[in-house]
Amino acid sequence: MKQLSPAIILDRDGTLCRDAVYLSRFEDFEPLPAVDAALRLLQDEGYLLFVATNQSGVARGMFPLSTVEALNAQIGEYFLERGVLIEDFAVCPHHPEGTVPEYTRSCECRKPKPGMLLDLARKHGLDLSRSYMVGDMARDAEAGLAAGARAVLIPATGGEAAIAGVSSLDNNARLKEFKTLLDFARSVRGVDASHVC
Ligand SMILES: [Mg+2]
Ligand SMILES: [Zn+2]
Repeated sequence: MKQLSPAIILDRDGTLCRDAVYLSRFEDFEPLPAVDAALRLLQDEGYLLFVATNQSGVARGMFPLSTVEALNAQIGEYFLERGVLIEDFAVCPHHPEGTVPEYTRSCECRKPKPGMLLDLARKHGLDLSRSYMVGDMARDAEAGLAAGARAVLIPATGGEAAIAGVSSLDNNARLKEFKTLLDFARSVRGVDASHVC
């Protein structure tokens, strides 16, 4: 029987890259500082890397799902050129108030629901209890906790206040906040090092 892997599942917009509103073109992809270094550290610690992203622009008719998938492929190549393998990108194209009938509904995958994380876990054999969901919004953390993973919040500048208002996240021992992805990656390394000695 194959052993289940620990993973880091990352939000895309506002976590890997600057949160352009409805990012759809690679020209507008602006990675946040030191994100590739952080991902290399996490990868070296034995975590498989994934992305889980809400893309309601598809339901809203702003761009087709194929545009999201093409952009994700380019982002994957960008990181691969920097020594980082993102194993898979999960996308929720839905929204309850969309304009494209095919994608207009309440679904089980739009964060804060845990559907994308559960799907990735099934597809790739992940041990969610040893995994982290990392994002810049409260709904990212909520999805992670709902999936049985640990959650990491890296609020975008000015986003702390919004997160403080989410009561389900208060005093949750499985949720931690960091200023940058690199700070989180270093802390993971610190934790593992402490097990060795
Ligand atoms: Mg985000
Ligand atoms: Zn969905």
